[in-house]
Amino acid sequence: MESWSHQDQAYIMSTVNRLPIAIEKATGNYLYDTEGKAYLDLVTGLGVNVVGHSHPTVLKALTEQGNRFLHISNLFLNPPAIRLAKRLLSHSLVRGKVYFANSGAEATEATIKLIHKWCTREQNEKRGVVVMKNSFHGRTMGAIRLTRQPGVYQDYPEIDLPVYEVEGEDLSSLEAICHQHQPAAILLEPVLGAGGVYPLSPSYLQGARRIADQHSMLLCIDEIQTGMGRTGKLFAYQHSDISPDVILFAKGVGGGLPLGGIIANANTCDLFQPGDHGTTFAPSPLSSALGNAVLDILLEQEQLEMGKKAAAYLWQKLIELQRKHPHIIKEVRGLGMMLGIRTSCTPEQAQQLQRDLYHAGILVNVAAQTVIRLLPPLTLQHDEIDHFIFTLDHYINHRVSDS
Ligand SMILES: *Cc1c(COP(=O)(O)O)cnc(C)c1O
Repeated sequence: MESWSHQDQAYIMSTVNRLPIAIEKATGNYLYDTEGKAYLDLVTGLGVNVVGHSHPTVLKALTEQGNRFLHISNLFLNPPAIRLAKRLLSHSLVRGKVYFANSGAEATEATIKLIHKWCTREQNEKRGVVVMKNSFHGRTMGAIRLTRQPGVYQDYPEIDLPVYEVEGEDLSSLEAICHQHQPAAILLEPVLGAGGVYPLSPSYLQGARRIADQHSMLLCIDEIQTGMGRTGKLFAYQHSDISPDVILFAKGVGGGLPLGGIIANANTCDLFQPGDHGTTFAPSPLSSALGNAVLDILLEQEQLEMGKKAAAYLWQKLIELQRKHPHIIKEVRGLGMMLGIRTSCTPEQAQQLQRDLYHAGILVNVAAQTVIRLLPPLTLQHDEIDHFIFTLDHYINHRVSDS
């Protein structure tokens, strides 16, 4: 039989450069390939599997809901989704409502349409959205405009939505753009993920909230990657003592199955009326049941707290490693279990380091070419952290230092 790699290249469009590992199964914090080799998973499906793989509570919900019904459409009441919406709200904006979609990009599309409805209701002249340079909000034709990465938006045609880009944590330039152009909304990732794991400070997020209020704009926070406990709070904006108008979620919310959407506050949650927006599959009852299981694990089984402790240990060990290799590890940044190790490596060296680690049975990701990006599960154990640090140290010593 032809290798999985060859068949992948023959039959699936190559929109991503894949590592040549064919996965057979995944449990806990490990993936296993078809040869039986185990890999410590520090990428968790790009931030999706926040509580690791095949968590017993998630599997129980999968069987229970699977035995009830998989799909019913939006024409009927959907108890697992209603329960999930209620719980997401009670742990975020308290007052407001949820709109469910299937993915992050769809959450961004819903946000764009909601902003439009808001401008119409307010009868203001505002138009457009302010976003950050290097932001990532998805790849559909609307979301791609808000994703400020040239490799992503390329020369795809533009929709008629003004987009303003701000750079760094500069509140005065944010203020100037809002004053000059009268945009309708500000959309921010609390920690820029694909942009290189760059956290925004609480004072910047508070400043953005103040500017949005002063100019009667909506503040929308993209928690697609930072949400579901990833940074040590259920949502990362909760480190900053602000209240957004709209929260975007996806990735970890479906417990490994597709589920996304937005949480809108009391001011914006009734803007969509029947017929204004929707999709066939969302909210998937099965994804919603898994989402409820993830909330049970995070909040009732205290995995959020345990994940915070594991993250603190990982940070401590990485900072020690940085002190040992200050010429190679330039910075460790991020928040909680969302980390970027900025290296002085060339992009080729960073890729080699990623390959070395995967040969040694550890999976990491590389963002912004030279940043080793980690999205570990909140279930990560201290001995696994020690093993990762030991192995990373080894390859820095043997590869990067002497090349
Ligand atoms: C992954 C991601 C998206 C896009 O989500 P998809 O489900 O891939 O469409 C949007 N915003 C952020 C911050 C993300 O990390």
